[in-house]
Amino acid sequence: MRRRYKIIILGLIVINIMAFLATFVLIRVDRKRKALDKQYLNAVNEKVKNSLHDTDYGEQYDEVFDESQTVSDVKTEDEVGEYENLQTEVSGNRRFITFINDDGYQSYYEKFLPIVKKKKVSISNAIEVANVGTNNFMTWEQIHEAQECGAEILNHTLHHVVSDEEVKKVGEKQYTEDLLRAKEIMEANGFYDTADILVYSGASAVSSWPWVKKTMRAGINSCGNKVNVMPFNSNILDRYRIGSDHVPTFEELKGYIDDLMEVEEGWEIWMMHSEYAYVTEDYLKAFEKAIDYCQEIGIEIVTAKYALDYFDIHGSEETTRGLN
Ligand SMILES: [Zn+2]
Repeated sequence: MRRRYKIIILGLIVINIMAFLATFVLIRVDRKRKALDKQYLNAVNEKVKNSLHDTDYGEQYDEVFDESQTVSDVKTEDEVGEYENLQTEVSGNRRFITFINDDGYQSYYEKFLPIVKKKKVSISNAIEVANVGTNNFMTWEQIHEAQECGAEILNHTLHHVVSDEEVKKVGEKQYTEDLLRAKEIMEANGFYDTADILVYSGASAVSSWPWVKKTMRAGINSCGNKVNVMPFNSNILDRYRIGSDHVPTFEELKGYIDDLMEVEEGWEIWMMHSEYAYVTEDYLKAFEKAIDYCQEIGIEIVTAKYALDYFDIHGSEETTRGLN
């Protein structure tokens, strides 16, 4: 009898010790995550705040991180390691490419989403917010599905005003209200991180540029055909038009990608329209081959948000969030 009690008591003690250890580990992991999130955000915020000062980037970065280090009360070797990785990540020369499909038609779901799944890359989907779920546009459900598969969802205005004439007719007040409404609807649907990244709905809509600068984190244009190299204006980012008036061959796409290899560090953005007649099977094959080519030569296929975050930390003062 006594032996039995002894075993039960011993068992209870072991269970208690294990529970204590598990709690301890979980608390540490959570603290570490929070500390790193905070460090990262602090670095971004500080960089933006200091963006108008003419200071040496390296020094500024160290300052930012030294300061933010005090945020964390936990210091482990792992943490220092992760912190150093983050530093490496923001200090190397990198080449990014972002694929953006405009408008968010059903054809995105049929033509590009399978490639997102197959290649495990983001093909950002810029949605006309007021049109979601109508006519031939994707539904919120499909948009969420695309996001779950790894596609970024971007803001392509509320009503898709195209020409500068129309923009002027709408006027700053209404245009801004519509932009904020589109952002609000996207946020209500859970797209908090990207609702303020605008993909302009018209290449000629120059009158809206200063209004967008006041309200959005970034503005991605529908023309330019060149790589964005620092210092770039995050309010009017250049894009390559892919297959707007013909079916592109792989060689042509390769040529665009090679432009990125000509610069030391840069960000190339593509514009695609799933609804265009030129997005044929040949187009999609060439595009898939282009994705493979990017991966072969070390070009990173990233979301617009990823590139913006990177350049916010690493960029020169003109780069950050269109503040200047
Ligand atoms: Zn559009």
